[in-house]
Amino acid sequence: MKKTILIDLDDTLGTLLECWLELYNKKYDDNLQPQNILSWGITDFIKPEAVDDMYELLKTPELFSEMIQPKEDSVEATDILSKFYNIYIVTACVYPQNIVEKFKWIERFFPHISTDNIITAKNKSLIVGDYIIDDYLENLVTSKCDKKLLFFAPHNVFAEITNESITRINNWEYVIWYFAGENEELREYVFEKTTEDAFSKQKNLIKKLFSK
Ligand SMILES: [Mg+2]
Repeated sequence: MKKTILIDLDDTLGTLLECWLELYNKKYDDNLQPQNILSWGITDFIKPEAVDDMYELLKTPELFSEMIQPKEDSVEATDILSKFYNIYIVTACVYPQNIVEKFKWIERFFPHISTDNIITAKNKSLIVGDYIIDDYLENLVTSKCDKKLLFFAPHNVFAEITNESITRINNWEYVIWYFAGENEELREYVFEKTTEDAFSKQKNLIKKLFSK
């Protein structure tokens, strides 16, 4: 039976933070970059006059329809994973309109993930799978999934990990390396070039894996 992977959307599949900062920088004449946000509380790093407005910026219609892009290799990697695992996207929606925007965004960029497999939840500990991939350490600490992957973000670089079930993962390329170690069929698919499909649909990522 296929195992289940829960995957976060914001800053795991998509480039939310850099786009959110772009909106903030433009409006408040600042120059913050993702690498400046070194802990989860983004309002600690912005101008005081922007604090009350920062989360309101997430209502900007263009954010999901035009700005946020899939993270490097995330489309190809989830396409590979979806052949061997049940994939669910578990995402918090700060505002009601984010629900519609996120569904449309996933349909557009991740057609291999059914919209039936999108779960909106702020308390992700209520959703249980075998694996969870998320950039927010607290979501992993409270998760009941067996294995937890902390997806790299500047805000989690200095977070101390004391839980043995949590593994740091730098990018989507390394997600595939990780699951190649977990799943023999996936390993064969990626490394032994057992199908033509591996080289047509996921050509770029596979090329990268073999160039190491
Ligand atoms: Mg996230």
